[in-house]
Amino acid sequence: MPELGDGRLRLEHECRGHWPYDRGCDDCVQSRERTPARRGHKHETPHSLAVAFLSAAGKHWKVLVLLMVHTGMAGTVVCGGDKERDVASVLNEIGVGGLSVEVATDNEAALKSLVERGLAASSARGYHWRNISEARPQAKGIERAVCIMKEGIYANWLALERHCNARIALESPLLGYLVGHVHKTYNAYCEGKAGSTPLERLREKRGGQAPRSYPFGAVGFLKPIHPSKWPGQRLVLCHFLGMRYSTGGSCLGYPFSVDAEGYREVIKGHFQTEGASPV
Ligand SMILES: [Zn+2]
Repeated sequence: MPELGDGRLRLEHECRGHWPYDRGCDDCVQSRERTPARRGHKHETPHSLAVAFLSAAGKHWKVLVLLMVHTGMAGTVVCGGDKERDVASVLNEIGVGGLSVEVATDNEAALKSLVERGLAASSARGYHWRNISEARPQAKGIERAVCIMKEGIYANWLALERHCNARIALESPLLGYLVGHVHKTYNAYCEGKAGSTPLERLREKRGGQAPRSYPFGAVGFLKPIHPSKWPGQRLVLCHFLGMRYSTGGSCLGYPFSVDAEGYREVIKGHFQTEGASPV
């Protein structure tokens, strides 16, 4: 699928989910044209979680955006169906574990209900609500995070279409994985003004082991977590659908070709590339 013929830097930029924004990258530039101007934010409040909904592809996709204001760790969950476990998993990933968080939100019932159920299932110690209209830094932060996630979704989406040389249908479940890829690569690779990534701020240290990632949709081999479902195949040729968490470890893939057993659930394992090189 991906041609990857545009040089090492280009590849690294795509592996990092198009973070940080690159004015030399057509996908990044076009994505910014599609989103309103965003502003910076200065003030930060400890242990504050800000939440909002984002609409992408017209109103076709509704995405919950979660932001830990003090670290800048961002999370996204595509809405639809019962998503409280997904929300809990992303909340844990962005660092609510053991914390008592103040949640800044408007009073939209669907938003509060989804976040409330997610928090209850997460490893947060506790939480209380704060109206976003009274919380300036949180309001600015989440407004900016919504724009940033939107830009990331479009940049990676445009790049995927360019690699496939085809339009991807709005109904494609691929977008759900792409949205996850966007927040995970953002947390892992997007350096802010101070030169640190959200993941480094969460860990309170710079450098260290950066997780491995690849361009969304890249083709490579995955080692299945459940080998019994893949008899006779130690490695399975897959499309890369993103890391499981911002911290890396394992990743998601979609089997490249159908076999006698048909398409099976997405396997999780270790991505071993043929053509693409990791960052
Ligand atoms: Zn880019």
